[in-house]
Amino acid sequence: MQGLMQEWPLLCSKIIDYAARQHPRREIVSRSIEGPIVRTTYAEARSRALKVAQRLERDGYRRGDRIGTLAWNTARHLEAWYGIMGMGGVYHTLNPRLFPDQIAWIMNHAEDKCLFVDLTFVPLVEKIAPKVPSLNKVIILTDAAHMPDTKLPAVPYEEWLAEADGDYEWVDLDEHEAAGMCYTSGTTGDPKGVVYSHRSNVLHALIAVQPDAMGLSSRDTILPVVPMFHANAWGLAQSAPMVGAKMVMPGAKMDGASIYELLDTEKATCSGAVPTVWLMLLQYLEETGKKLPYLKKVVIGGSACPRAMTRKFRDDYDVDVIHAWGMTEMSPLGTLGTMKPEYASLTGEDQLDIKVKQGYPPFGVEMKVTDDEDLERPWDGKTFGRLKVRGPAVSRAYYGGAGKEQFDEAGWFDTGDVAHIDQYGYMQITDRAKDVIKSGGEWISTIDLENLAVGHPDVAEAAVIGVRHARWDERPLLVVVRKAGRNPSKAEILGFMEGKIAKWWMPDDVVFVDDIPHTATGKIQKTTLRDRFKDYQLPTEEAGAA
Ligand code: AMP
Repeated sequence: MQGLMQEWPLLCSKIIDYAARQHPRREIVSRSIEGPIVRTTYAEARSRALKVAQRLERDGYRRGDRIGTLAWNTARHLEAWYGIMGMGGVYHTLNPRLFPDQIAWIMNHAEDKCLFVDLTFVPLVEKIAPKVPSLNKVIILTDAAHMPDTKLPAVPYEEWLAEADGDYEWVDLDEHEAAGMCYTSGTTGDPKGVVYSHRSNVLHALIAVQPDAMGLSSRDTILPVVPMFHANAWGLAQSAPMVGAKMVMPGAKMDGASIYELLDTEKATCSGAVPTVWLMLLQYLEETGKKLPYLKKVVIGGSACPRAMTRKFRDDYDVDVIHAWGMTEMSPLGTLGTMKPEYASLTGEDQLDIKVKQGYPPFGVEMKVTDDEDLERPWDGKTFGRLKVRGPAVSRAYYGGAGKEQFDEAGWFDTGDVAHIDQYGYMQITDRAKDVIKSGGEWISTIDLENLAVGHPDVAEAAVIGVRHARWDERPLLVVVRKAGRNPSKAEILGFMEGKIAKWWMPDDVVFVDDIPHTATGKIQKTTLRDRFKDYQLPTEEAGAA
């Protein structure tokens, strides 16, 4: 027997329709690339998105065409996404922090035909465009008055848009059709294309807004610092309009002072960003003595959120940190560290013991850890394994069929992360599978060691890599960037770590460096770091081998 309920395809156009209908005057505030703060509303964003769709069609773009965006978080970028999706196109976010050749490679792989670009990136596009034969139009997200002098086949967005009247109906799509694309920032091998469908984007937004996930509502003011070009902006471009939350878009400026200014003047209640952004904000707050009276919670992910950061937000600013883990391939949310009743009454350091974990999956994400034979490992909070996931907003393949080995027949996607899960379902990432240190047949978590080291008051950043060891195969080397004006010794740092971890986990040496290399999405680039230290000889090597 069949159910008798309606077909209501899960299309992204329905999100912006809903926001415009139910929350028409809710604002989207942007720090424009030209400089001033610009205010618009969901009603206006929808009517401009309709024009984007109409105008793209008039230019000859069709359902399924990939349309690139190389832009910061602004209302214009948001309108462009909804316009592209609404005419059946596929928004393809490009990360400007990649090398020009990598961007060109990705655009060629996706066969982008048209590109929306911020003023900031015009010189970058001038380098890339000659290498991308499929690209025939560049729409610069500005008006005629601010148009740069360029030989690109470029038009100013505002004037281009003004040629449409917005008398347009969203294309009637199948919910399984592609809505967006984002290439993963893999540190090795070619980037791989993740293709979101309308259905997965809508379901992901529904998953994200749940009270025990991001917990968003129309009473929230959300400041997505996480760029739209990084892992689908953690779904915020869909989940904020889905609940009618006010949005504050930071544009090109993500330094502490600029983010603080927007948090304060717009009274943001909630924000999301990678740890490095929060580090800059916390530093700014410390220097200026300013407070965060409106901010209630920050979602921190992309890389592990250090315990000291969660403590500072909680104890000094009364802001709740929700540690989250995810991947581009998961749209991207996987787990969030909200509190189940089993943990809700914890306080002080006991609470932080849970908050350093990456949390548990909301409805819509299944998760397990397995050993090398693919057998499931126990949920005891200590047995590591490969983390595998599945769900309606998780990739089932990469574009063009790359990386087949990461997907199995039962629908599990191998994340490449190593983690354990505790008795209440809370997952903790201990490493990337390729970074974990294998010492004497046992595994050492580099992330645990890094988190511990950055807890030292004189340490700005820390990275741990495995270096060759005659007896133990690999031993941990701690690489440290000192805080400006501080000069901790090796012994002080090791002394700080001692007793807080198993003895055999203690780094064999500490080296001080001026900088630690990062990937385009802000993660520590361990491959480069391992390369730098490939000839490094541990002082303990001889003792160990003896
Ligand atoms: P991306 O697709 O660029 O967002 O990268 C996803 C990867 O980032 C994951 O597979 C993890 O290795 C890492 N990652 C994301 N969030 C966290 C987190 N909260 N803690 C540790 N690693 C994380």
